[in-house]
Amino acid sequence: MNYELTLGLEVHTELSTKTKIFCNCTTEFGGEQNTHVCEGCLGMPGTLPVLNKSVVDYAIKTGLATNCSITQFNKFDRKNYFYPDLPKAYQISQLYFPICQNGFVEVNTDDGNTKRVRIKEIHMEEDAGKLIHDPWEDCTLIDYNRGAVPLLEIVSEPDLSSAQEAIEYLEKLRAILQYVGVSDCKMQEGSFRADINLSVRPVGQKELGVRTEMKNMNSFKAIARAIESESKRQIELIEEGKTVLQETRRWDDNKGKSFAMRSKENAQDYKYFPDPDLPPIEISDKQIEDIRKSLPELPEQKKLRYVTQLGLPEYDTGIITNSVHLVALFEKTAELCGNPKEAANWIMVELMKLLNDSATLPEDMSFDDTSLAKIINLLAENKITRDTAKKVFAKVFEDDVDPEQYIKDNNLAVMTDNTLIKSTIEKVVADNQKSVDEYKGGKTQALQYLIGQSMRALRGQAPAQEVTKILKELLD
Ligand SMILES: [Zn+2]
Repeated sequence: MNYELTLGLEVHTELSTKTKIFCNCTTEFGGEQNTHVCEGCLGMPGTLPVLNKSVVDYAIKTGLATNCSITQFNKFDRKNYFYPDLPKAYQISQLYFPICQNGFVEVNTDDGNTKRVRIKEIHMEEDAGKLIHDPWEDCTLIDYNRGAVPLLEIVSEPDLSSAQEAIEYLEKLRAILQYVGVSDCKMQEGSFRADINLSVRPVGQKELGVRTEMKNMNSFKAIARAIESESKRQIELIEEGKTVLQETRRWDDNKGKSFAMRSKENAQDYKYFPDPDLPPIEISDKQIEDIRKSLPELPEQKKLRYVTQLGLPEYDTGIITNSVHLVALFEKTAELCGNPKEAANWIMVELMKLLNDSATLPEDMSFDDTSLAKIINLLAENKITRDTAKKVFAKVFEDDVDPEQYIKDNNLAVMTDNTLIKSTIEKVVADNQKSVDEYKGGKTQALQYLIGQSMRALRGQAPAQEVTKILKELLD
């Protein structure tokens, strides 16, 4: 039997406001444990929350950028549960009136089409503290620095049907959040994490299968593996005549398996009720319009402009526009060297290779746009060969050296002394009599070999065209 997969994602993103959602403590990541805290975010009795207005602006920005309608009268609710990382024993969240509703994000599907993934709602809430288990002392420590850092929870409809689509959606969503500047979306720091809701059903069956949830996934690779593994597990259960239980599961990426954690709780288990300490939020038409006008060019618009105005290949524009860091590098380099195509090419070929090989993220690159623009210009002016340019770029990527200085220090500029080039090639010809005879006997590959030998003797610093020309003159 064939099965189909139904996936919905809940993304939690930490907002990059300076202060927390209901107090003046800093939202800065890390720091010494329990130093970014006050009576308020430690949940002490008698303290009152005061809403940070930037959080509302950030939520509206995100809603508009994801085609949502803004709920102009919305409010906060208490989600009650006890856990050591939540000292108040309730989380301030939004259940009845989330600030954004009914939006969508467009993603590319496996077959090359686009698909709308609907966004059910986006709501504001506070993050919890962090539990750190110490295996040596066999105890658990708590750091409340993260407590009450503002979060947006972005809830999609179950519109996704493969791991590939889920990743496309997450990449697009992350790019949008970074473009509008509401979050740095650093997955390794937990500021962009996803819960996966997943069910399977036989193709043709109308009602959805029983779904499970995997929480707090913070790497794209792990998410893709978890989706593959969980859908396989559910299909196997159905095939064996067993039932899939509605539950929350924990993904262990090292073991490549998920484990049952607890039966899934429903909204009623949390005894939500409106928070009596916070007044409702009223958002005016003007506030929405002002924010709409302030939105930057978004990934889809940028992509279209790159294709139509700059003539870049669609595939390349998709990769570049998915990262706010690559966009910044591309746009500044293109401006500095005046050659957008060449700038995009260097990013797509050489930079991608270096990033992959060194497992570096675009946000962690140390070099800047001026270096790449310099290399492109030196190459265009024939001051270095393409081989040299690649070598210099790798060095710039590694150690952030100045390209011009590095070329000068290592004597890498193109050789302009034609007499020296010619005498070097003459020596190569004299040393490779066998290949010369083969070439004269009609073997064209022999010429390639001689070009290679000559280039090596010239340390790759002579223009290839010039070398070929001189060789042919000597041989013919
Ligand atoms: Zn505080």
